[in-house]
This record gives sequence, structure tokens and C-alpha cells, in this order.
Amino acid sequence: MNLKDYIASIPDYPAKGVIFRDISPLMGDGAAYREATKQIVDYAKEKQVDMVVGPEARGFIIGCPVAYELGIGFAPARKKGKLPRETIEVDYGLEYGEATLTLHKDAIQPGQRVLICDDLLATGGTIEATIQLIENLGGVVVGCAFLVELTDLHGRDKIKDYDILALMDF
Ligand code: 5GP
Repeated sequence: MNLKDYIASIPDYPAKGVIFRDISPLMGDGAAYREATKQIVDYAKEKQVDMVVGPEARGFIIGCPVAYELGIGFAPARKKGKLPRETIEVDYGLEYGEATLTLHKDAIQPGQRVLICDDLLATGGTIEATIQLIENLGGVVVGCAFLVELTDLHGRDKIKDYDILALMDF
């Protein structure tokens, strides 16, 4: 199975000149979704992961089945104002604007080994902010897993010190 066959490319969305890579055909196909999840789980199994963190919203779609399969917990990193209890926060730049990402203060225990999952690595702003949140709570980021990496945007350069898995490149 070629997972790339399940990524739709949408020209000029959400802004002119941008090609949006849509993962919903992959999620919509049981075998493809399962295969992508399996590849990330295999990667995680070598890293003795204690917790999975996924940034809102598509990070949940990738991270939750991975955590479930590993039998470990999942913590959502959410936009400011969405988490009900005490949070820590980090401001970051997006491919299309600015945002603040938050994590519950008790989401990660000091020393826990954390895998971050998201659908796509673009400029690297989101993953950088997620790493900062986890490290501020004393967690150890042992890997960052994505379905898709947009190589032209060089997001990987922002997180040189971390181990990265991308199942597909565009
Ligand atoms: P970055 O922070 O690396 O610039 O952007 C990555 C974040 O924005 C990810 O959380 C991802 O969900 C979203 N994103 C940016 N561009 C795309 C895209 O072309 N397709 C999808 N599916 N998500 C994108």
C-alpha cells in the first residue's frame, strides 16, 4: 500500500499559492489509517514511550490510536482557552498566523518519555511549541512522528536535536 495515494492535495487552500495536504482520505480508509498507525507504533516501541502528546486538532487523530495501541496515555496540547484546568502556555508562529498552545500542568510527570504525534510538519512552529511545553513540565521528548513532512519549509531544521519520523514527504 502506498500511503501517499491517501493524501489529497488542494491547491490555493487556505490561501492562494498554498497546497494543502489533506489527510482525511487516509483517515477515511480503515486499512490505510491502520497501516499509518502501525508504522508509528513500531517506531514508538523502540523508544520506551510513557505518554503521547498531540497538538490540536489533527494531532489527536494520529496520537490517540498510537497511545491506545501502546497501552499508554494521551495528553492533548490545545489552543489557549480550551483546557479546563491549570495550564502552561507557549506562543508560537504558524504557517498562517500566530497562536498560543497550552498543556494541563499535570499532563506530564518529570522524567516521562514522551512521543509527539501530529499529521504534518510544515514550518516546525507547532512541534517546537509542543516540545517546549513538554520540557517545561520536565518531560523528555524521545520522538516526533508525522504522517507528512513538507520538506521545502525546512521545519526539521528547527528541531535538529530531536528524533523525527515522517511517513511521507511532499
Ligand atoms: P507548522 O507549525 O509546522 O508550520 O504547521 C504544522 C501544523 O499546521 C500541523 O499541526 C498541521 O495540522 C497544520 N498544517 C499546516 N499545513 C498543513 C497542510 O498542508 N495539511 C495539513 N493536514 N495540516 C497542515
